[in-house]
Formats: sequence, structure tokens, C-alpha cells
Amino acid sequence: MAVEPLKMILIIGDGMADRPVRELTFKTPLEVANTPNMDEIARRGITGLMDVLEPGVPPGSAPAHLAILGYDPYNNYTGRGAFEALGIGLNLSADDVAFRCNFATVNDEFVVIDRRAGRYIHEGDELAKAISGLVLSSTPDVKVLFRHSIEHRAVLVFRGKNLSRMVSSTDPGRTGVRVLEAKPLTNDPSAIRTAKALNEFTMKSHEILMRHPANKRRTSRGLPPANIVLCRGAGTLPKVMSVEEKFNIKSACIAGVALIKGVCKALGFKIIDVPGATGGLNSDLHAKARAAIKALEDHDFILISVKGTDAASHDGLLDEKIRMIERIDEMVGLILDEVDVESICIAITADHASPISVRNHVGDPVPVAILAPTVVPDEVSSFSERASLKGGLGRIRGVNLMPIMLNYSLRGKKFGE
Ligand code: ZN
Ligand code: ZN
Repeated sequence: MAVEPLKMILIIGDGMADRPVRELTFKTPLEVANTPNMDEIARRGITGLMDVLEPGVPPGSAPAHLAILGYDPYNNYTGRGAFEALGIGLNLSADDVAFRCNFATVNDEFVVIDRRAGRYIHEGDELAKAISGLVLSSTPDVKVLFRHSIEHRAVLVFRGKNLSRMVSSTDPGRTGVRVLEAKPLTNDPSAIRTAKALNEFTMKSHEILMRHPANKRRTSRGLPPANIVLCRGAGTLPKVMSVEEKFNIKSACIAGVALIKGVCKALGFKIIDVPGATGGLNSDLHAKARAAIKALEDHDFILISVKGTDAASHDGLLDEKIRMIERIDEMVGLILDEVDVESICIAITADHASPISVRNHVGDPVPVAILAPTVVPDEVSSFSERASLKGGLGRIRGVNLMPIMLNYSLRGKKFGE
């Protein structure tokens, strides 16, 4: 039995949990997938169910990850935009307001024709450069930063004093309707000012994009012009203690998608970029496993987040979801082969259920399994929603997971004398 604190690895399969599927004779994808390694963690470890936010509340991925990493999601989720901005490598200061954006296509009446402007905007960086730095006459003290991320996605940052994230989105969320006017969501002058800035940004960037040669090239090739920026998810940096201050652990994050990298960056994780970790169904999970094993040398805690299971769920792709679960299992196997299981605490879970039948997040509890030399194993021998019903952890909340892992890793903080 180890007396030194254990190293910790947490593996999150995004949207991996599901509900009984008719085509699978009412089994879940986790029950049908061949997952010898996750089953091994369940068999030798302790399992249970986890309400990520609270029973019945469908979580967004960012608040879900905040909760699972030990941060109260209700007090620390400050909008998606800031996490997206951090995730694509922008540094934010405390007063900045960031938005997640789409390049889209509108007609002369400002009606949205294509919310993604064809999705593949190879000219994205060039277009972003033309917009970034534009000066707003309504708020000349506000600096405008605009950065393309991937495909049709981009991030807008307003930098200045007296800005607010309490503004509505300009993205109508569907085609055939006009671009929305941003509205302040409170009477606060900073919200009114931010809405004004966002509306002026929308008009001015539209004018720049309409005239831009890259869009002329797109239309001459029959592609929809990326002639408008739709903004939503206004966010600011959460004011939180870093994970190192809060739990006294040096932490690293291995994730494919910007949102999760951004959440981890906001919490003070080192972000390890793994070539080939795309966040999609083709993500190189072996590379992620190798990066995690290497990162263990100089970190106490590694988070590995895999997006493909959620992507397959949103698209209703049952076979792909099962295959992705099996690929996550192979990744778990590589890790189990390489680490000394006597000196590590490994947990596996999902950030929420994304049932194939719903194609969106739901508020069901998710299975969780923890393997450590310190746990008293229960009698559960496979990793699934159903098997975990009988697990020794019982039913926990997302925010409980970190304290539980820290406790089994001999890193728990004593309360009282
Ligand atoms: Zn998620
Ligand atoms: Zn999702």
C-alpha cells in the first residue's frame, strides 16, 4: 500500500452515457460496446452514479466539466464565450467580454441564409484579420479582437472597462429569419453599452466582409460568402482559485475541443496540445494516452477529455458512438498497461448523458468508476449506466468527484481538528 500521495487520471467521455436503445434490444451503447479496460476499472475499483449538476438538470459541457473538476458550476459558469476564447489560445483579462461566433451568410435583407456559410471557411484567418481591430464609434475605448478558430467558428473579444456579459445573442439559431439585434439583459449601463458595441460590430464587420476579396473569391467559386458574424454566449473569465491553490495538485489537460481546453485553462491547468487530437470521431486517442503518460512525470493530475462520443450522439450515429466508446476503451487500456496501478487513482466517467434517441444532453445521472489501491471494491464488474446502479459509491454529485478522488489519492484535506 502506497503512503505517498497517488497520481490521478480522470477520463471523461463527453456525452458517453445514454439510455436504453431499441435497436440494441434496450441496452445502452456502453453495455453493447466491447470495453474490457473500463470493465476492469469497474471490477477492481468502486463504481456509482453521478448527477453532474443535480438530479434531472441537463448540463452543458462547460458547467459539467467545472462541476466534475470540483468547482460549483452555478457560481463559476460565466458564459461560454470566455472559455472558447481561452481554448483557442487568446489570453483574457478580467474585464474582457468574449463571444463565440459563426461566420454565416445573409442576404440583402439581413436574413440568414446559411448559419455556417458552408462550414468550411478556408479564408477564415484572412477575414478575421480584416475585422480584428476595427474601431467602434459608439464605444471608441473598446478594443475589438477577432480570431478565427476552425471551420465556420470564431471568437470575438471586447476589451475595455465597464463591459458586461449580460447581453443577448445576435444569432437567431436558424435560417430564414433576420439577424437579431443584441439587447442588454439588465438595466446596467455596462450591459447597455456592450449591446450597443455588439450591434455596431455586427454592422461594421458585415460591411467589411461584403467587400472583402476573399468573399468575392468564394462567390465566384459558387460558395456562400462569409458575410456576417453571428455572436452568442457572451462570457467573462470566472473569478476562481486555480486548481493548484484549491486542491494542491499540479494539473494538466488533454482535450480535443477548445471549450474544454478553455475551462481547464481558466482553472489553471497546463494545456497539452496533442497533434491529431481533433475532438472528432477520427481523433488520435493513442496519442492522447501517450501524452497523458508522459505528463504524469511532472503533474499530479491529468484530465483526458474525449469529444467524439458526444459528436456521434448529436448526429444520431449509433454505430459511431459504440465504436468511439471502444476507442476510448483502447485508450484506457494503453494507460492501464503503462502506469503502476499501485500508485495511481484512475477514474472514468461522462460529463452528461447524450442519448442517441434525444440527440442532445439530458439530466440523467452518469456512471463513474474509480480504481485505486485504496478503494474497497464493490461487486460491480462492468462499466455502464445499469451496472453502476449497484455500485459502492452510491449516487454522488459532480462536485463530489474531485474530493473523492483526492481522498483515495491520500490528498484529502481534513475538516476540523
Ligand atoms: Zn459534454
Ligand atoms: Zn453536446
